Amino acid sequence: MAAVFIQNARYVLTMDPDRAIIKDGGILIEGDRIVRVGKSSEVAGTAPPGAKVIDARDRLVMPGLVNTHVHLTQLHDRGCTTGFFAPTYVAKIHHLENVQDREAAYYSVLCQCLEALKTGTTIVVDPGGYAIEEMVSAIETLGIRALLSRSLTDLGTEVQETTEDAVRAGKDFLDRYQGAAGGRIRIGLSLRGDRMVSDELARRVSRMAQEYGVGIQSHMAACQAFVDKHKETFHGLTPVERFHRIGLLGPNLLLTHCNILTEREAGLLRDHEVKIARCPTSELILAMGMLHGRHVEMHRDGVCQSLGSGGAGASNFHDMFRVMYTLIVHRDYHLDATLFSPEEILEICVTNGVRALQWEDDLGSLESGKKADMILLDLIRPEWTPLLNPVANLVMGATGASVDTVIIDGRILVEGGRVLTVDEEDVLALTQETGSRAAEKAGLLANGRLRWPVR
Ligand SMILES: [Zn+2]
Repeated sequence: MAAVFIQNARYVLTMDPDRAIIKDGGILIEGDRIVRVGKSSEVAGTAPPGAKVIDARDRLVMPGLVNTHVHLTQLHDRGCTTGFFAPTYVAKIHHLENVQDREAAYYSVLCQCLEALKTGTTIVVDPGGYAIEEMVSAIETLGIRALLSRSLTDLGTEVQETTEDAVRAGKDFLDRYQGAAGGRIRIGLSLRGDRMVSDELARRVSRMAQEYGVGIQSHMAACQAFVDKHKETFHGLTPVERFHRIGLLGPNLLLTHCNILTEREAGLLRDHEVKIARCPTSELILAMGMLHGRHVEMHRDGVCQSLGSGGAGASNFHDMFRVMYTLIVHRDYHLDATLFSPEEILEICVTNGVRALQWEDDLGSLESGKKADMILLDLIRPEWTPLLNPVANLVMGATGASVDTVIIDGRILVEGGRVLTVDEEDVLALTQETGSRAAEKAGLLANGRLRWPVR
């Protein structure tokens, strides 16, 4: 069994239940699991002969970051959506998904996961695309961990699917790919969005989730216009209220956005232990109303909020260090500088991230017995200096550019900032080629044109 010994780490942020930080730390990995975590000198004696040794004297070691909402097949509108309000953006992006070819979809997934991996994210969650074989194939190739689903809808989108078609597609994806890539890929169920699913589809997906023991995702109450549309379609009901009446609310439900909720709806999410995927970098740019929502109150109330980046055309990046930092905008809006401490933000991203996926038994901390998923950050950089409080520097000062090494399932995927499993230059060139084609076909280039003269 292959073994890796990480020695002399300047800091190990274990993120275990005590949140222990170990100075001069050591970690022993055997196969895909962590065997021992402690002081380097103590762990050294247990490393088997032939273990690969990583010298981490200038590194901080921590669990990988978790992105609980990223549209893996929607890369090719990056740079072409400036000025779009959320409803315009969503209509354009659905069209792009429908007209892009399979090769473009494959490179969309590969390039976005490459960005995620290089910036320290070890788990990506896709809320449901259609090019599902391409998603699985790209993730198998790259080596990142993922929760995937097939988008299910039977109302109000370009996709013309019946309820029956949608149910069959969701079941088929589960049957074919659950546990693929040696367990790195998990499959869940995904309702495309609150106003895009009938009661019958939502009910049947809920039953299927129970039968298979998997989670459900859905976009939810993203902006006022979507909530108004939902009320118009469903006899005045707000979206969380309708999901509640259908019986969907529960700990296995992950709702994205949740910007526009009534007080009663926020209480329902808390009482039913529903999880939330916030996407602050997308919500701010699309003017969804994030700061006007109840996120601060829900956080104080103990609702499990996690973080996603969203679509590439909205967020424009998937560096979760930058996404984490965005939460501090609440401080200014609430005129309260104590909101969202660095420790809380890191817990939201990592600890709540794996809870939102119901994957916390295996992931989210560096402890003996857990999966060996971790990142090593280079501390010899100006933005880390002086290094007095590593958690504050990490959340408030660093970006994904600090990521030196990424390990998933005990396998080193990034070393010295370079991805080892694919040729990065090839991936970028082919993404550029297929992506330009897709953006042109989707009619996105006009909005992406340069506004300054090109000479
Ligand atoms: Zn989304």
